[in-house]
Amino acid sequence: MSQVQRMSRLMAKTLRDDPADAETLSHKLLVRAGYVRRTSAGLWSWLPLGKKVLDNISRVVREEMDAIGAQEVLLPALLPKEPYEASGRWDEYGDLLFRLKDRKGGEYLLGPTHEEIFTLVVKDQCTSYKDLPVMLYQIQTKYRDEARPRSGVLRGREFQMKDSYSFDTTDEGLAESYALHRVAYQKIFARLGLDYRIVSAISGAMGGSASEEFLAPAAAGEDTFVDCPNGDYAANTEAVTFALTPVDGAAHGALEELDTPDTPTIETLAAFLGVPASATLKNLLVKVDGEITAVGVPGDREVDLGKLGEHLAPAVVELVTAEDFEGRPELVRGYVGPQGLKVRYIADPRVAPGTAWVTGANKADTHARNVVCGRDFEVDEYLDVVVVEEGDPCPVCGAGLKLGRAIEIGHIFQLGRKYADTFQLDVLGQQGKPVRVTMGSYGIGVSRAVAALAEQTADEQGLCWPREIAPADVHVVAAGKALQTELAVDVAEQLAAAGLRVLVDERAGVSPGVKFTDAELIGVPQILVAGRRSAEGVLELKDRRTGEREELTVAEAIERLTATVTA
Ligand code: ATP
Ligand code: MG
Repeated sequence: MSQVQRMSRLMAKTLRDDPADAETLSHKLLVRAGYVRRTSAGLWSWLPLGKKVLDNISRVVREEMDAIGAQEVLLPALLPKEPYEASGRWDEYGDLLFRLKDRKGGEYLLGPTHEEIFTLVVKDQCTSYKDLPVMLYQIQTKYRDEARPRSGVLRGREFQMKDSYSFDTTDEGLAESYALHRVAYQKIFARLGLDYRIVSAISGAMGGSASEEFLAPAAAGEDTFVDCPNGDYAANTEAVTFALTPVDGAAHGALEELDTPDTPTIETLAAFLGVPASATLKNLLVKVDGEITAVGVPGDREVDLGKLGEHLAPAVVELVTAEDFEGRPELVRGYVGPQGLKVRYIADPRVAPGTAWVTGANKADTHARNVVCGRDFEVDEYLDVVVVEEGDPCPVCGAGLKLGRAIEIGHIFQLGRKYADTFQLDVLGQQGKPVRVTMGSYGIGVSRAVAALAEQTADEQGLCWPREIAPADVHVVAAGKALQTELAVDVAEQLAAAGLRVLVDERAGVSPGVKFTDAELIGVPQILVAGRRSAEGVLELKDRRTGEREELTVAEAIERLTATVTA
């Protein structure tokens, strides 16, 4: 039998006003409803209601991880420096890493993620191909010294993550472990009642190839993504690709140079010639590992230097300075064109073979028109480097993409052999020779999911949890009179006996108005009120989400509520 939680004893002090430092809805409501309290910047204490929600999410995650055959372990959060030094991440993580020393001067870190340590555990435990594949996970506290720990538990400096790691001997095996995780994540987020999209991502500091993010659309999100209105495609804005579609360029006239005085910018050029900016070709000069490189994009688009850097990594991309033009008379600032240019030329796929452009003529105050890609200049490399805009075509169906904000709730990576190479993780293969192991790593922000769910489900009255995640199945409210309190407590006990998780508001000296407001704020999905008709044994059941109300006898209420829970 479940216990009845009495509101008179519950440590959850609700607040009428938003905390002064709160910017996001989930931050405000989780504090106001008494779920969490701020201990310090990015450090949160979970009070009883919050801990229940956190545990409910962990339970769903655990069940689905177990269902794909992953085994739960628990590794330390306090970790020695050496493995992270070997992988290079001791330095790569920079200021994000919490570093500390023990009494003997030994250096440690608080784990931001655990690839290194899991690799070492498997190296110790698995010696033969027969020991693999293996998938391991933990639900554990992670530490990152985030630059801007705002938004409550959405971005903590200490937070709960489910991290798992797969170990396989073949690429096919890795693809399979990855696919298993992907399906488990879909089940987890569906059970949590989260609206989410799976988007392809650029894997960044983790290294490795295939990687996808699970994004929960929400105004409070720090990620921007594009979404196809037909549901064909979603992607992180950094990962959006534009199809390269060559066109027939035979009909274009010959290249023609034009006298265009004082037109060093796209705006001045477009106005002078009376053409749209999109007909011009803008050529940005950058240095890639010190070598001057031109990047061509339509004149109405911006180059996303971050994206360019991601594509060219580990090469370093820098903007050119005046000094770079010294001794290079062929590079005419403001009048650069790809035709005859003797530097590496990278272009956006919109600059497709056969397209014609107005662009610089590599002479001061001069431009050229009918400059045709593939005829007058060649592109060395196509890369998606423009800033994505609302209305850009969906690469699948062509419909105008929508730009939105989202919270990253999960991330899955096919890491490959990066960490196995670092730690020489080999197992004895079928032929008796050592085989290098290949890895995947997979994260879910468990504490972040609490806030993401709150963001997506809350309304003006407060939190509004899906049943499986809610801190209770039903919130019984006694309007105030002795008889009403007696009935409320009695029904609460019967509901608990039937296996429901019950919160009962039997507080004396608290007005019914305050109790109703608190019930709405706390967000348990069903609210059962012992009010006006208590003497007749009639209660009112209110659905927190829809606001629908219905009068029921005690027996009916118990039957109805038990059915919703066992359904
Ligand atoms: P972000 O881009 O939001 O900083 P990340 O890409 O660095 O996140 P991962 O390394 O992929 O995060 O970590 C796995 C998951 O852990 C993320 O998908 C996210 O849900 C969660 N997470 C990461 N950082 C935090 C944080 N500071 N607070 C709460 N959850 C976090
Ligand atoms: Mg991530």
